[in-house]
Amino acid sequence: SAAPLGSSVIPIVNKLQDIFAKLGSQSTIELPQVAVVGSQSSGKSSVLEALVGRDFLPRGSDIAHVALLSSSFFRPSANLMVPMKNMASFFTCPASVSMTSLRFAGRSREAGGNKGLSDKQIRLKIFSPNVLDITLVDLPGITKVPVGDQPSDIEARIRTMIMSYIKQPSCLIIAVTPANSDLANSDALQIAGNADPDGYRTIGVITKLDIMDRGTDARNLLLGKVIPLRLGYIGVVNRSQEDILLNRSIKDALMAEEKFFRSHPVYNGLTDRCGVPQLAKKLNQILVQHIKAILPGLKSRISSALVSVAKEHASYGEITESKARWPGSSSAEYSVKMSTSELSGGARIHYIFQS
Ligand code: GDP
Repeated sequence: SAAPLGSSVIPIVNKLQDIFAKLGSQSTIELPQVAVVGSQSSGKSSVLEALVGRDFLPRGSDIAHVALLSSSFFRPSANLMVPMKNMASFFTCPASVSMTSLRFAGRSREAGGNKGLSDKQIRLKIFSPNVLDITLVDLPGITKVPVGDQPSDIEARIRTMIMSYIKQPSCLIIAVTPANSDLANSDALQIAGNADPDGYRTIGVITKLDIMDRGTDARNLLLGKVIPLRLGYIGVVNRSQEDILLNRSIKDALMAEEKFFRSHPVYNGLTDRCGVPQLAKKLNQILVQHIKAILPGLKSRISSALVSVAKEHASYGEITESKARWPGSSSAEYSVKMSTSELSGGARIHYIFQS
């Protein structure tokens, strides 16, 4: 297939983020968040897990978890699944993260017995020179009936919380509906529709295609013939509860999913709408579009900031050009030696001119 989307944009954004971090600059590149919404047990965590490629979201059978993951948006590498290897590996997580500790965090909160909505969030930040930070948000499932000591207005509370994330224009929404429930009553599509009425940032995901009623299939759902969605739908098959109990790996599950779709009479004709790798690909396309869209604005902000700062400092001292290069970048580095006494003691201001 063609060169992976993002192969040119991602190194640029990486470089800019590095430079901004070193400068302590106000300018940052605001990457979109990806939030997963849907009813309880619709398969939200499973979708995220499959995207990230490892089972590291704390999972519980109640709603008492919100995992905030600042996860990895990888440059393509060559070690995953054919034919979608580049896209799938975008979401691979570095091995250094302690999955166990996260699972413990999830479990102990569960064990606390409070089925109320926890507002504690688990933040996982992954630092790597090769990744962009992107935040995946596993939002609590929409639930109708309070359980245990949940407040009676639990549904409203959860909806408010979800809206606070997904109404942000930079938030991509993965709206998850299980194939064995009625799409017309989908909580996910309903709340996503409130937050994003034009559907520019909502991807529909249909889970559990493997356990639909015999004789039915999700063809019309996936084709958008039941409820149209601008960015369309992707159907997936995640691990069943049994798979989880049997410790089946995500990798095995992805292979089983691929086989399921390939051998299915309906889905083998809808290959661009089926499978976690397709979902990853779609997400990447949207993220890259977003990044491309914000780059010109970012560039002009930097240029005008540069002009005004350069003017301000023109009177302070003589400018000496150093041939040093910013590590890992093609930018020429200029330094201004401060001549005023207050600023002596080695104060330097670095200007980065993108060449
Ligand atoms: P969440 O509450 O929305 O995060 O849902 P989970 O991801 O925890 O999934 C709920 C249950 O459905 C778990 O037992 C999963 O193993 C199961 N599940 C999720 N997706 C699928 C799927 O595509 N097929 C099957 N058979 N089971 C699934």
